Amino acid sequence: MIRKLLRRVFSKPLPDSSSSSPLVIPVATHGVRREQISPCAAKVVAALQERGFQAFVVGGAVRDLLLGKHPKDFDVATDARPEQVRAVVKRSRVIGRRFRLVHAYCGDEIVEVSTFRGEHGVAETDEARADEHGRILRDNVFGTQEQDAKRRDFTVNALFYDPQSQEIWDCTGGYRDLQARRLCMIGDPATRYREDPVRMLRAVRLAASLGLAIEPRSRAPISELAPLLHHVPPSRLFEEMLKLLLSGQSQECLRQLREEGLHHGLFPMLDVILEQPMGERFVNLALANTDRRIKEDKRVSPAFLLAALLWHEVLNAWRQAEAEGFKPVPALYQAMDQVLASQAEKLAIPRRFCSPMKELWALQQRFAHRSGKRPFRLPEHPRFRAGLDFLLLRCESGEVAPELGQWWADFYAADEVARLQMVTPEPRPRRRPRSRKGAGSREAPAAEPTSGRLAGE
Ligand code: ATP
Ligand code: MG
Repeated sequence: MIRKLLRRVFSKPLPDSSSSSPLVIPVATHGVRREQISPCAAKVVAALQERGFQAFVVGGAVRDLLLGKHPKDFDVATDARPEQVRAVVKRSRVIGRRFRLVHAYCGDEIVEVSTFRGEHGVAETDEARADEHGRILRDNVFGTQEQDAKRRDFTVNALFYDPQSQEIWDCTGGYRDLQARRLCMIGDPATRYREDPVRMLRAVRLAASLGLAIEPRSRAPISELAPLLHHVPPSRLFEEMLKLLLSGQSQECLRQLREEGLHHGLFPMLDVILEQPMGERFVNLALANTDRRIKEDKRVSPAFLLAALLWHEVLNAWRQAEAEGFKPVPALYQAMDQVLASQAEKLAIPRRFCSPMKELWALQQRFAHRSGKRPFRLPEHPRFRAGLDFLLLRCESGEVAPELGQWWADFYAADEVARLQMVTPEPRPRRRPRSRKGAGSREAPAAEPTSGRLAGE
């Protein structure tokens, strides 16, 4: 308390990342009020502080609040050990191996509570905690608040907020960097990227989505160290890629990824897709559409976006399977499996996304049929709306005629009577039955395309 008071009285200059005493910034300066903290995080912090522990809201939430953005989630950092947190916060459990954390639950909300991380002790050899490229494999050594700040990635991510006093504690100069809209790695950037190459992707995502500039020292080693991403487990890469695509600034993120040379080998199909004129337009439209939905606070489905990114791969494989003699529908199913098998391996797409992706692709084939009874069943499909949005994007990209998408949008909006007028009659079977009874009373059917893929082209 006395230290805090002295600090305020003498109003020290803002610290840089090598400085050791935290700067305490009062609410009158930074403007973040305790009401802006989620009730769950505030409750967890209060419970820990009541038991005599240090506890703060930390990381992305503090950064986002300072930028006037709505935080996605709230993390808490404390000097209490995971078991002690468990004992204080009734609805909680310990998770993780690489980092042991506590998840605290309040209704639907989950607050992640981590114990301050510290320097590694001499007892633990470097071999035991890092791989041969310097990547940290385990990190469960506890430490002080200041050590914890320095083990975080960027200075703007290392700010601590105390809801009780409404103060921000800054050990690394993050407050000043945020004001200057600057993203600075804490410590030696090359060493920190080697410890965890995903930090390079985080640098690009945070810079692009928050409108920060990566400061030259933190940017310099990225292109050289980019190949280290190959040693990161695919499931972690997939998670980070998804965060990037769903950041609301996906196009800007991808532009910066390419600029930093980080897209190769990370999302290999992206290179392939972007080399095809049709594919590039479609992917860009899908990304722009996702960014817009996020800005409008609408729901976005990762499966939709992934299905869009791989759609032209599926189309190619579909054409190939048809050329090999498969009928359109089996050819499509074979193409979907083939694309998913090769991508799932490279990208570790979790199984939960694969079936909605397949459903979206399979619906595209069904949109080809606009005669007889078949169109009437389609709007009842649980993924019809998403399927139609997907079709409209295909139209916009020039892959299929806009008329097909418009027809389905109109059909969806129409009532039963109008729908009956819209459909063309069922095409006659190729081999006619012997009896010609009634044949003269029907109009000649409009030709149904033989392949769903070609519909509307
Ligand atoms: P967002 O939630 O908006 O994606 P975030 O910064 O909150 O961004 P999280 O993944 O929620 O990201 O991480 C919470 C905090 O943990 C970060 O703010 C940072 O302090 C720390 N952190 C996350 N990933 C790393 C990392 N790879 N290396 C060091 N510190 C990290
Ligand atoms: Mg976060």
